[in-house]
Amino acid sequence: ERERLARLRHTPSITLDGQKVELLANIEQPADAASAVRAGAVGVGLFRTEFLFMGRHGNLPAEEEQYQAYRDALEGMQGLPVTIRTIDVGADKPLDKAHKDDHLNPALGLRAIRWSLADPAMFRVQLRALLRAAAHGKINLLFPMLAHVGEIRQTLAQVELAKAELDARGQAYGPVRLGAMVEVPAAALIVRTFLRYFDFLSIGTNDLIQYTLAIDRADESVSHLYDPLHPAVLRLVAEVIAECQAQGKSVSVCGETAGDVGMTRLLLGLGLRSFSMHPAQILAVKQEILRADTRKLTPWAQQVLEAEEPALLLGH
Ligand code: PEP
Ligand code: MG
Repeated sequence: ERERLARLRHTPSITLDGQKVELLANIEQPADAASAVRAGAVGVGLFRTEFLFMGRHGNLPAEEEQYQAYRDALEGMQGLPVTIRTIDVGADKPLDKAHKDDHLNPALGLRAIRWSLADPAMFRVQLRALLRAAAHGKINLLFPMLAHVGEIRQTLAQVELAKAELDARGQAYGPVRLGAMVEVPAAALIVRTFLRYFDFLSIGTNDLIQYTLAIDRADESVSHLYDPLHPAVLRLVAEVIAECQAQGKSVSVCGETAGDVGMTRLLLGLGLRSFSMHPAQILAVKQEILRADTRKLTPWAQQVLEAEEPALLLGH
């Protein structure tokens, strides 16, 4: 089976009815780019930069070290585009495992973009490193956990400020596309506002499920209720995809559901044409895509959306 899948590496991912689908990789370190390329990814859809910051006892990597790491990721991808997400620490990803987050409710607390915006000078260290790296290849900047339009404006203002700082230094930087994660239900519900500010969106189903269903994604005692096929989750995902399509903006899914072969047909039916996943999943998902016919999946996906128990229609 593995060998058979390996032969698909250079096969373009196109459905039976000719729909092109983009398969991207999720990475945690620049070195992971090698396995992404080996798996046939056409780019990185999610570089989780928090892994550069974790386990360093609070000594955050300096601008130069970050710049090098982002360049390394670009180089590893051999000219393919790399979507780099700004730091998403907090909740299930503490900066330092030794210093456990003792906030009342870390998943609802100072995590991701909230953490970055709480210390704008520190945030701009990362932004300057990213902008400088963009002089060497195609970088898309992705911001985690946005929910409020005020956060969007603050974030974009910090990007402008970081550019001004590089201008003042006379340091080169490249153009970037700007995107937002949709991983809080509030973001999905105001997707039109998001699309006024961003070039692309990436749906983070891991958190979107957690926050829609009020199920801690790391809590074993409620893991049976963590349901990617809950109709409420599906409706949010479907609406974000549909709105992006209507406006001609790119949208991908980068949560675990993107790499779940049991979900591929449904996501295709909902109109998704860009999936980002762990490199190990890419060939199996590609195989599903090669067998799929979106002319049949599109009406079927609408039925799934209307179902009381969508899982039954997927044979789960
Ligand atoms: C997600 O929430 O789906 C996601 C991709 O982000 P992370 O898993 O890093 O929180
Ligand atoms: Mg997330």
